[in-house]
Amino acid sequence: MLLNVRANMIEPFGSCKCGQVQYKVSSRALQVVACHCGMCRSMTGAPLSSYVVVKEEHFAVTSGHEVLASYAVTDRTKRYFCATCGTPIFNSNPHTYKGLAMLYLGTVVDHENFVPELSIYCEGKLPWVNIHESSKSFPQAPTRGA
Ligand SMILES: [Zn+2]
Ligand SMILES: [Zn+2]
Repeated sequence: MLLNVRANMIEPFGSCKCGQVQYKVSSRALQVVACHCGMCRSMTGAPLSSYVVVKEEHFAVTSGHEVLASYAVTDRTKRYFCATCGTPIFNSNPHTYKGLAMLYLGTVVDHENFVPELSIYCEGKLPWVNIHESSKSFPQAPTRGA
């Protein structure tokens, strides 16, 4: 069953909706995270965000640099998105998550194979959103290394 496939067995690659921005990752995912914080909701319009976390050094945008726009969500977090179709591609936060890129799960081509192992900021979770039983949940962010 697909849900039992460990996310980090697969090297993610993906694109935005219109296909102009494409990326690839040259190593396995470090982690798959579902975030229930209010900031993720307001910047995606979705009830939660899911991220495939990879090392920045293993991540490369392979096409669409000219339409890859960014927005400073906070003074620490930048969201990168396709300026043509609006798809969020990845976040970076060099302060708290130095060296990491948080890829938006839905942009990964075979995202069915990536199941969140961690659910974070669950204290802000919408009551009708269910957390997958295989996911460890935290009221806020887990301390590093969890
Ligand atoms: Zn696009
Ligand atoms: Zn969040």
